[in-house]
Amino acid sequence: KLVLGIETSCDDTAAAVVDETGNVLGEAIHSQTEVHLKTGGIIPPVAQQLHRENIQRIVQDALSASKVSPSELSAIATTIKPGLALSLGVGLSFSLQLVDQLKKPFIPIHHMEAHALTIRLTNKVEFPFLVLLISGGHCLLALVRGVSDFLLLGKSLDIAPGDMLDKVARRLSLIKHPECSTMSGGKAIEHLAKQGNKLHFDFKPPMQRARNCDFSFSGLHHVIDKMIMQKEKEEGIEKGQILSSAADIAAAVQHTIACHIAKRTHRAILFCKQRDLLCQSNAVLVVSGGVASNLYIRKALEIVTDATQCTLLCPPPRLCTDNGIMIA
Ligand code: ATP
Ligand code: FE
Repeated sequence: KLVLGIETSCDDTAAAVVDETGNVLGEAIHSQTEVHLKTGGIIPPVAQQLHRENIQRIVQDALSASKVSPSELSAIATTIKPGLALSLGVGLSFSLQLVDQLKKPFIPIHHMEAHALTIRLTNKVEFPFLVLLISGGHCLLALVRGVSDFLLLGKSLDIAPGDMLDKVARRLSLIKHPECSTMSGGKAIEHLAKQGNKLHFDFKPPMQRARNCDFSFSGLHHVIDKMIMQKEKEEGIEKGQILSSAADIAAAVQHTIACHIAKRTHRAILFCKQRDLLCQSNAVLVVSGGVASNLYIRKALEIVTDATQCTLLCPPPRLCTDNGIMIA
Protein backbone atom coordinates (compact mmCIF):
# COMPACT_ATOMS: atom_id res chain seq x y z
CA LYS A 1 0.00 0.00 0.00
CA LEU A 2 1.34 3.44 -0.94
CA VAL A 3 0.17 6.65 0.71
CA LEU A 4 0.82 10.17 -0.58
CA GLY A 5 1.07 12.66 2.29
CA ILE A 6 0.55 16.39 1.80
CA GLU A 7 1.41 19.11 4.35
CA THR A 8 0.70 22.85 4.05
CA SER A 9 -0.35 23.83 7.58
CA CYS A 10 2.16 26.63 8.07
CA ASP A 11 5.07 27.77 5.92
CA ASP A 12 6.34 24.53 4.36
CA THR A 13 4.82 22.97 1.27
CA ALA A 14 5.70 19.30 1.62
CA ALA A 15 4.76 15.93 0.14
CA ALA A 16 6.00 12.36 0.41
CA VAL A 17 5.12 8.80 -0.54
CA VAL A 18 5.43 6.16 2.19
CA ASP A 19 4.59 2.45 2.05
CA GLU A 20 2.73 0.46 4.72
CA THR A 21 5.93 -0.59 6.48
CA GLY A 22 7.07 3.02 6.91
CA ASN A 23 9.57 3.03 4.03
CA VAL A 24 9.94 6.50 2.58
CA LEU A 25 9.90 6.14 -1.20
CA GLY A 26 10.37 9.81 -1.98
CA GLU A 27 9.73 13.28 -0.67
CA ALA A 28 9.85 16.94 -1.64
CA ILE A 29 9.64 20.13 0.38
CA HIS A 30 9.59 23.84 -0.29
CA SER A 31 10.34 26.08 2.65
CA GLN A 32 9.10 29.67 2.77
CA THR A 33 11.37 30.61 5.67
CA GLU A 34 13.56 32.99 3.66
CA VAL A 35 10.59 35.07 2.51
CA HIS A 36 9.06 35.22 6.01
CA LEU A 37 12.42 36.11 7.61
CA LYS A 38 12.44 39.30 5.50
CA THR A 39 9.03 40.41 6.75
CA GLY A 40 9.83 39.41 10.33
CA GLY A 41 7.04 36.83 10.55
CA ILE A 42 4.51 34.89 8.53
CA ILE A 43 1.88 36.95 6.72
CA PRO A 44 -0.90 34.40 6.04
CA PRO A 45 -1.97 35.61 2.56
CA VAL A 46 1.71 35.55 1.50
CA ALA A 47 2.10 31.99 2.81
CA GLN A 48 -1.10 31.01 0.99
CA GLN A 49 0.17 32.44 -2.30
CA LEU A 50 3.50 30.63 -1.96
CA HIS A 51 1.74 27.32 -1.21
CA ARG A 52 -0.40 27.84 -4.33
CA GLU A 53 2.68 28.49 -6.46
CA ASN A 54 4.51 25.39 -5.23
CA ILE A 55 2.07 22.64 -4.35
CA GLN A 56 1.68 21.12 -7.81
CA ARG A 57 5.45 20.91 -8.35
CA ILE A 58 6.15 19.56 -4.84
CA VAL A 59 3.57 16.77 -5.16
CA GLN A 60 4.90 15.98 -8.64
CA ASP A 61 8.49 15.92 -7.33
CA ALA A 62 7.57 13.59 -4.45
CA LEU A 63 5.84 11.21 -6.88
CA SER A 64 8.76 11.32 -9.35
CA ALA A 65 11.33 10.76 -6.60
CA SER A 66 9.27 7.74 -5.48
CA LYS A 67 8.91 6.43 -9.05
CA VAL A 68 5.22 6.02 -8.27
CA SER A 69 2.47 6.99 -10.68
CA PRO A 70 -0.66 8.59 -9.19
CA SER A 71 -2.76 5.58 -10.19
CA GLU A 72 -0.61 3.28 -8.01
CA LEU A 73 -1.44 5.23 -4.83
CA SER A 74 -3.69 3.56 -2.26
CA ALA A 75 -4.75 6.77 -0.51
CA ILE A 76 -4.03 10.47 -0.10
CA ALA A 77 -3.42 11.84 3.41
CA THR A 78 -3.48 15.55 4.11
CA THR A 79 -3.12 17.80 7.14
CA ILE A 80 -6.54 19.25 7.93
CA LYS A 81 -5.72 20.95 11.31
CA PRO A 82 -4.33 22.70 13.29
CA GLY A 83 -2.56 25.49 11.41
CA LEU A 84 -3.09 28.68 9.44
CA ALA A 85 -6.50 28.44 7.79
CA LEU A 86 -5.30 30.00 4.54
CA SER A 87 -2.32 27.64 4.33
CA LEU A 88 -4.29 24.52 5.26
CA GLY A 89 -6.87 25.40 2.61
CA VAL A 90 -4.35 25.16 -0.23
CA GLY A 91 -3.28 21.61 0.66
CA LEU A 92 -6.83 20.54 1.36
CA SER A 93 -8.36 21.78 -1.88
CA PHE A 94 -5.44 20.42 -3.91
CA SER A 95 -5.84 17.00 -2.25
CA LEU A 96 -9.59 16.89 -2.67
CA GLN A 97 -9.20 17.65 -6.36
CA LEU A 98 -6.66 14.82 -6.64
CA VAL A 99 -8.88 12.45 -4.64
CA ASP A 100 -11.74 13.23 -7.01
CA GLN A 101 -9.61 12.81 -10.15
CA LEU A 102 -7.95 9.56 -9.05
CA LYS A 103 -10.91 8.12 -7.12
CA LYS A 104 -8.70 7.35 -4.12
CA PRO A 105 -9.62 7.36 -0.41
CA PHE A 106 -8.82 10.52 1.56
CA ILE A 107 -7.21 10.36 5.03
CA PRO A 108 -7.57 13.54 7.11
CA ILE A 109 -4.55 14.06 9.38
CA HIS A 110 -4.15 16.02 12.61
CA HIS A 111 -0.77 17.77 12.31
CA MET A 112 0.18 17.38 15.99
CA GLU A 113 -0.75 13.70 16.05
CA ALA A 114 1.50 13.18 13.03
CA HIS A 115 4.38 14.94 14.85
CA ALA A 116 3.76 12.76 17.91
CA LEU A 117 3.74 9.47 15.98
CA THR A 118 6.70 10.20 13.67
CA ILE A 119 9.20 8.53 16.01
CA ARG A 120 7.65 5.16 15.12
CA LEU A 121 9.07 5.51 11.60
CA THR A 122 12.64 5.39 12.92
CA ASN A 123 12.49 3.63 16.31
CA LYS A 124 10.60 0.71 17.76
CA VAL A 125 8.48 2.57 20.29
CA GLU A 126 5.51 0.85 21.92
CA PHE A 127 2.44 2.66 23.32
CA PRO A 128 2.12 4.33 25.72
CA PHE A 129 4.86 6.94 25.51
CA LEU A 130 5.19 10.59 26.47
CA VAL A 131 5.68 13.26 23.82
CA LEU A 132 6.93 16.84 24.14
CA LEU A 133 6.34 18.98 21.06
CA ILE A 134 8.20 22.27 21.07
CA SER A 135 8.21 24.44 17.94
CA GLY A 136 7.47 27.91 16.68
CA GLY A 137 3.75 27.27 16.64
CA HIS A 138 3.24 24.67 19.35
CA CYS A 139 4.16 23.64 22.84
CA LEU A 140 2.53 20.61 24.39
CA LEU A 141 3.05 17.54 26.50
CA ALA A 142 0.89 14.51 25.80
CA LEU A 143 0.62 10.86 26.64
CA VAL A 144 0.32 8.84 23.43
CA ARG A 145 -1.75 5.74 24.22
CA GLY A 146 -2.45 4.67 20.64
CA VAL A 147 -2.52 5.86 17.04
CA SER A 148 -5.53 8.06 17.77
CA ASP A 149 -5.61 7.99 21.57
CA PHE A 150 -3.92 11.00 23.16
CA LEU A 151 -4.10 12.46 26.66
CA LEU A 152 -3.10 16.13 26.72
CA LEU A 153 -1.12 16.78 29.92
CA GLY A 154 -0.03 20.37 29.36
CA LYS A 155 0.29 23.16 26.83
CA SER A 156 1.51 26.71 26.56
CA LEU A 157 -0.93 29.21 28.03
CA ASP A 158 0.37 31.84 25.61
CA ILE A 159 3.09 31.63 22.94
CA ALA A 160 5.32 28.72 21.91
CA PRO A 161 9.05 28.63 22.82
CA GLY A 162 10.21 28.89 19.18
CA ASP A 163 7.99 31.94 18.70
CA MET A 164 9.55 33.54 21.76
CA LEU A 165 13.09 32.74 20.59
CA ASP A 166 12.24 34.21 17.17
CA LYS A 167 10.89 37.39 18.82
CA VAL A 168 13.98 37.79 21.03
CA ALA A 169 16.30 37.15 18.07
CA ARG A 170 14.45 39.79 16.08
CA ARG A 171 14.60 42.26 18.96
CA LEU A 172 18.37 41.64 19.21
CA SER A 173 18.63 42.17 15.41
CA LEU A 174 20.51 38.89 15.07
CA ILE A 175 19.64 38.84 11.38
CA LYS A 176 22.29 41.58 11.05
CA HIS A 177 24.84 39.51 12.96
CA PRO A 178 27.45 38.22 10.47
CA GLU A 179 27.40 34.69 11.93
CA CYS A 180 23.61 34.33 12.25
CA SER A 181 22.09 36.10 9.25
CA THR A 182 20.75 32.95 7.59
CA MET A 183 19.61 31.17 10.77
CA SER A 184 16.13 30.90 12.27
CA GLY A 185 15.73 32.88 15.51
CA GLY A 186 16.09 29.79 17.68
CA LYS A 187 19.19 28.59 15.90
CA ALA A 188 20.76 32.06 16.08
CA ILE A 189 20.16 32.16 19.86
CA GLU A 190 21.72 28.71 20.27
CA HIS A 191 24.73 29.70 18.16
CA LEU A 192 25.33 32.98 20.00
CA ALA A 193 24.69 31.44 23.43
CA LYS A 194 27.85 29.35 23.02
CA GLN A 195 29.88 32.58 23.13
CA GLY A 196 27.97 34.07 26.08
CA ASN A 197 27.84 33.71 29.84
CA LYS A 198 24.38 32.74 31.12
CA LEU A 199 25.25 33.95 34.64
CA HIS A 200 25.39 37.60 33.55
CA PHE A 201 21.59 37.72 33.55
CA ASP A 202 19.18 36.14 35.97
CA PHE A 203 15.77 35.51 34.42
CA LYS A 204 13.36 33.51 36.57
CA PRO A 205 11.85 30.39 34.97
CA PRO A 206 8.07 30.92 34.57
CA MET A 207 5.31 29.16 36.58
CA GLN A 208 7.55 27.83 39.32
CA ARG A 209 4.60 27.36 41.67
CA ALA A 210 2.04 26.04 39.17
CA ARG A 211 1.09 22.48 40.07
CA ASN A 212 0.39 21.33 36.52
CA CYS A 213 2.27 20.64 33.30
CA ASP A 214 1.42 23.85 31.43
CA PHE A 215 3.97 26.27 29.99
CA SER A 216 4.20 30.02 29.60
CA PHE A 217 6.69 32.12 27.65
CA SER A 218 5.21 35.56 27.13
CA GLY A 219 5.84 36.89 30.67
CA LEU A 220 9.49 35.92 30.34
CA HIS A 221 9.51 37.47 26.88
CA HIS A 222 8.40 40.84 28.30
CA VAL A 223 11.05 40.71 31.04
CA ILE A 224 13.72 40.06 28.41
CA ASP A 225 12.40 42.84 26.19
CA LYS A 226 12.65 45.31 29.06
CA MET A 227 16.16 44.11 29.86
CA ILE A 228 17.21 44.62 26.23
CA MET A 229 15.83 48.16 26.27
CA GLN A 230 17.74 48.91 29.47
CA LYS A 231 20.97 47.49 28.02
CA GLU A 232 20.56 49.60 24.89
CA LYS A 233 20.38 52.67 27.11
CA GLU A 234 23.42 51.59 29.12
CA GLU A 235 25.47 50.83 26.03
CA GLY A 236 24.22 53.99 24.33
CA ILE A 237 23.09 52.29 21.14
CA GLU A 238 19.98 52.60 18.98
CA LYS A 239 17.28 49.93 18.69
CA GLY A 240 18.33 47.77 15.73
CA GLN A 241 22.05 47.77 16.50
CA ILE A 242 23.65 44.71 18.05
CA LEU A 243 24.30 44.86 21.80
CA SER A 244 27.74 43.85 23.04
CA SER A 245 25.91 41.75 25.65
CA ALA A 246 23.78 39.97 23.01
CA ALA A 247 25.59 36.65 23.49
CA ASP A 248 25.13 36.78 27.29
CA ILE A 249 21.43 37.53 26.84
CA ALA A 250 21.12 34.65 24.36
CA ALA A 251 22.82 32.26 26.81
CA ALA A 252 20.59 33.34 29.71
CA VAL A 253 17.40 33.15 27.62
CA GLN A 254 18.28 29.67 26.37
CA HIS A 255 19.12 28.53 29.90
CA THR A 256 15.86 29.85 31.36
CA ILE A 257 13.74 28.27 28.64
CA ALA A 258 15.60 24.97 29.04
CA CYS A 259 14.94 25.00 32.82
CA HIS A 260 11.26 25.75 32.30
CA ILE A 261 10.76 23.04 29.67
CA ALA A 262 12.72 20.48 31.70
CA LYS A 263 10.78 21.19 34.91
CA ARG A 264 7.36 20.92 33.28
CA THR A 265 8.42 17.69 31.58
CA HIS A 266 9.70 16.31 34.89
CA ARG A 267 6.27 16.94 36.41
CA ALA A 268 4.57 15.13 33.52
CA ILE A 269 6.83 12.07 33.90
CA LEU A 270 6.19 11.90 37.65
CA PHE A 271 2.44 12.36 37.13
CA CYS A 272 2.30 9.48 34.64
CA LYS A 273 4.49 7.16 36.65
CA GLN A 274 2.56 7.74 39.88
CA ARG A 275 -0.65 6.75 38.11
CA ASP A 276 0.87 3.82 36.21
CA LEU A 277 0.14 5.54 32.91
CA LEU A 278 3.73 4.90 31.77
CA CYS A 279 5.97 1.87 32.14
CA GLN A 280 7.85 2.20 35.48
CA SER A 281 11.17 0.78 34.34
CA ASN A 282 11.34 1.64 30.67
CA ALA A 283 9.27 4.74 29.90
CA VAL A 284 9.97 6.69 26.71
CA LEU A 285 9.94 10.47 26.25
CA VAL A 286 9.86 11.60 22.62
CA VAL A 287 10.88 15.20 21.95
CA SER A 288 10.10 16.76 18.61
CA GLY A 289 9.52 20.12 16.85
CA GLY A 290 12.03 22.69 15.62
CA VAL A 291 13.08 23.70 19.15
CA ALA A 292 14.00 20.06 19.89
CA SER A 293 17.05 20.49 17.67
CA ASN A 294 18.49 22.77 20.39
CA LEU A 295 21.27 20.75 22.04
CA TYR A 296 21.26 22.75 25.28
CA ILE A 297 17.54 22.11 25.77
CA ARG A 298 18.06 18.44 24.91
CA LYS A 299 20.82 18.21 27.51
CA ALA A 300 18.44 19.61 30.15
CA LEU A 301 15.84 17.02 29.16
CA GLU A 302 18.46 14.27 29.35
CA ILE A 303 19.12 15.20 32.98
CA VAL A 304 15.40 14.76 33.66
CA THR A 305 15.10 11.43 31.81
CA ASP A 306 18.27 10.07 33.46
CA ALA A 307 16.89 10.94 36.89
CA THR A 308 13.53 9.26 36.20
CA GLN A 309 14.71 6.10 34.40
CA CYS A 310 13.25 7.20 31.08
CA THR A 311 14.64 6.91 27.58
CA LEU A 312 14.85 10.16 25.60
CA LEU A 313 14.25 9.83 21.87
CA CYS A 314 14.28 12.52 19.18
CA PRO A 315 13.40 11.92 15.55
CA PRO A 316 16.18 12.98 13.16
CA PRO A 317 16.10 16.77 12.48
CA ARG A 318 14.43 16.47 9.06
CA LEU A 319 11.53 14.61 10.71
CA CYS A 320 11.36 17.01 13.70
CA THR A 321 10.19 19.91 11.55
CA ASP A 322 7.20 19.96 9.21
CA ASN A 323 7.39 17.38 6.43
CA GLY A 324 5.22 15.24 4.17
CA ILE A 325 6.57 11.93 5.48
CA MET A 326 4.88 12.22 8.88
CA ILE A 327 1.57 12.96 7.19
CA ALA A 328 1.89 9.96 4.82
P1 ATP B 1 4.60 24.11 13.82
O1 ATP B 1 5.20 23.09 12.91
O2 ATP B 1 4.47 23.60 15.19
O3 ATP B 1 3.34 24.69 13.30
P2 ATP B 1 6.87 25.77 13.12
O4 ATP B 1 6.59 25.83 11.68
O5 ATP B 1 7.43 26.97 13.77
O6 ATP B 1 5.58 25.35 13.93
P3 ATP B 1 9.20 24.03 13.18
O7 ATP B 1 9.64 24.18 11.77
O8 ATP B 1 9.11 22.68 13.77
O9 ATP B 1 7.79 24.56 13.44
O10 ATP B 1 10.13 24.89 14.13
C1 ATP B 1 10.60 26.17 13.83
C2 ATP B 1 10.93 26.84 15.13
O11 ATP B 1 12.02 26.16 15.75
C3 ATP B 1 11.33 28.28 14.99
O12 ATP B 1 10.66 29.05 15.96
C4 ATP B 1 12.82 28.26 15.25
O13 ATP B 1 13.30 29.46 15.83
C5 ATP B 1 12.96 27.10 16.19
N1 ATP B 1 14.30 26.51 16.15
C6 ATP B 1 14.97 26.02 15.08
N2 ATP B 1 16.22 25.62 15.39
C7 ATP B 1 16.36 25.88 16.72
C8 ATP B 1 17.41 25.69 17.67
N3 ATP B 1 18.59 25.18 17.31
N4 ATP B 1 17.18 26.07 18.95
C9 ATP B 1 15.98 26.58 19.32
N5 ATP B 1 14.97 26.78 18.48
C10 ATP B 1 15.13 26.44 17.20
FE1 FE C 1 4.63 21.29 12.81
